[in-house]
This record gives sequence, structure tokens and C-alpha cells, in this order.
Amino acid sequence: MSLTVLMNAGPWLSVPPPGYGGIENVVATLVPELRRLGVRVVLASVETSTLPVDEKISVFPDGQFHALQRPYNQVCGVSQAHLGGVVRALHARDDIDLVHDHVEAVGLATMAAMGPDAPPALHTLHWDLAKHPELYGNLDGGDRVRVNGVSASQLARAPQALRDHSVGHVHLSTPLAVDADRRPPVDQGDHVIILGRINPGKGQDLGARLARQVGFPLVLAGPVGPYHRPEDLAAAGDEARQNPDVRFFYDHVAPHVDGDLVRWVGTVAGQERDDLLASARAALFPLRWEEPGGTAVVESLALGTPVVSTARGCLPELIEHGRTGLLTTDEEELGDLVLAAGLLDPAECRREAAARFTPAMMAEQYVGLYERVRQLAARP
Ligand code: UDP
Repeated sequence: MSLTVLMNAGPWLSVPPPGYGGIENVVATLVPELRRLGVRVVLASVETSTLPVDEKISVFPDGQFHALQRPYNQVCGVSQAHLGGVVRALHARDDIDLVHDHVEAVGLATMAAMGPDAPPALHTLHWDLAKHPELYGNLDGGDRVRVNGVSASQLARAPQALRDHSVGHVHLSTPLAVDADRRPPVDQGDHVIILGRINPGKGQDLGARLARQVGFPLVLAGPVGPYHRPEDLAAAGDEARQNPDVRFFYDHVAPHVDGDLVRWVGTVAGQERDDLLASARAALFPLRWEEPGGTAVVESLALGTPVVSTARGCLPELIEHGRTGLLTTDEEELGDLVLAAGLLDPAECRREAAARFTPAMMAEQYVGLYERVRQLAARP
């Protein structure tokens, strides 16, 4: 297939990301599979990105993640500078068949504002959007700009203007799902894991309290704001509390962290992350927000770890209650469900991941969406 896609991953982190990085991980997972299907990929990112692509466009020498801590107008300045580079590139060449944009509302608005000279654009929504309808009010790009969600529930909650431009949803995937059904089982540990950013929406406070009440060992893995290691957070002192996730951690999670039954291990990566997740009795998601995509959920399945979660956001789409996990609308019930999760079959989880969440499947679905977006844009 001869299709050239400009993939806009934004200016915040290199691709693949050095550690934590949701959007950049999705791009790093998707692009190799697209190229295997014959798609040419021009990556708009930062200089330090190492993902093999056909061509790169970058404005910034390296990831500008640190700028996200600055005032909002400076954050927008970084976004606009990056998008300026993308727009200049689009004006200077005519070989781009489609823009696949991942850069939140600013990217979408820019694509829309480029008007009929721009190639058609598909914007992937990565967040829970119901809270920010104002960001997506103006989609003057009309038929040339389309959006897709990462779950049906995310789209159902999105503002009407976005739903009017939607071409459907594509679930997130994980390289861990490749041949997951053929991997030998691992020895189960005793611990339960919550894998994710420490944040009120992810509910680590609830999980930690239930671990103490019910009495199961709980490992909290993930960054607290910009701090990846407990010693970095400790060294940052009181200034760190300006970050809302740091305040949440100190006020609501840390009181339950005793270093014994409940531990915070900071961000885990690579084999360490996979081993910790694969050997867990259950992956707990005590969600208080409507999880839009849930990469950590599909990773848990791929590693044969049943998921225990509040039935929020995309969870009911990803998890079959009673087979690959246990879901509840009553958060106080989560502790009992963790104990019951040992009855679920890890092989069922791995089978489910191999059948539904591989990168190749995600890429095939995106190629289908690219065709649809181009057809809609070509309509008289
Ligand atoms: N993650 C990780 N190490 C950690 C915590 C999280 O590698 O200590 C990864 C996790 O495996 C997943 C991603 O970060 O790939 C989080 O994506 P998800 O969609 O679950 O949550 P988000 O943070 O995007 O809301």
C-alpha cells in the first residue's frame, strides 16, 4: 500500500519514551506495525526520538516534559512552536496523505484551522474528555478532520462536537500480547499490584486502605508527579507539594504506606515491571475516573494477571467479569474481589490479550480508519 502518514507525537517526550509516557508508547507500538503493512511514516516529535521511521520532523532538540510544570501560557507556547513546525512541513510538501495526530486539543484545533489545503487528519483522543468540552468546541476543519477514541465509553462521554466527527474507536494494545497465549505460566507471588501514575483518578488511596483493612500485600508502582523514585521525592522537600499529585500522595496515600504490607516502589520499567505484574495475584484498578484506554489493563491480561477494578470507563469493554477479571460498582467490595481473583485462570487472561490486544491488530484497524477518513475528506 502506498500511503504516507505524518504521525504527530508532540514535543513532550522522545519516542519511545525514556520511562513513563502514554501517548509516546502508543506511537512507538503502532508505527512499526504500520510500516510492516507498507505505510510510510514521517514522525513529528523531538530530535532525541529513536523510533525507526522513514523521516523525522522536530522543532525541539529533546523532550519538553519539564515545561509542563510551568504556567499554562508557556505550556501552550511549546505546543504552538512544535505545531508551527508541523504546519510548515505540511505547507512545504505534498506527499503526505494523512496526518495522524495525538497531540490533544491544540493539535486538533491546528489541523482544523489549516483548512482545505491540509491533508485529511485523524486525531486520536487519549483522555477522558467529558470534563473539557471547551477545548474541542471549534472543529472548522469540517469533513477533513476526524477523531477516534481509544474506547467506546470514552467516545460516549465526549462532547457532541467530537462525536459528530468520530470514525469509531480502537482499543490500546501491547507488544506483551504477541504470543501471550503461548508463554509458559509464571510462579504467582502473594502480592497485588496497582500499576499507574499516583493520582486521585487512579485511586491508590482506596487500594491502600483496603489492603490494610482486608490484609493483602500491595505494591504501588508508578510516579508521583514528576518523581520516579521514593528517594527523589524525599529529596525534593516541601517544594514538591506544589504538584497536586504529590499533595494527594502525602495526604491520602502515604498514611497507608507502611513499607511492609503496603509499599510504594516508584516507577518500574522493563523486565522489572513485567515480572512484578506477571507474578501478582491480581492487578487492582480502584478507579475513580472514567479510564479512557487502560494500557496497564491490557498489559496485565497479556501477562496472565487477572484484573480487579471498579467498573468505570473502558474497563467493562476490556474485562469479562468472572473470566479475565472481577468488576464492581461498589468500591468497598474491591478488597473481597482481590481475594477471589485467585480463582480466575491466568491462561484465560493471556488468551484474551493474544486475541484482542496485539499491536498488529491495532495497526490494521488504524489503516482501516485512515481509508475511511480519506474517503470522507474526498466526498464532494
Ligand atoms: N507504567 C510503567 N511503570 C510504572 C507505571 C506505569 O511502565 O511504574 C506504564 C504502564 O505499564 C502503562 C502506562 O505506563 O504502559 C500507563 O498507561 P495507562 O493507559 O494505564 O494510564 P495513563 O497514565 O495513560 O492514564
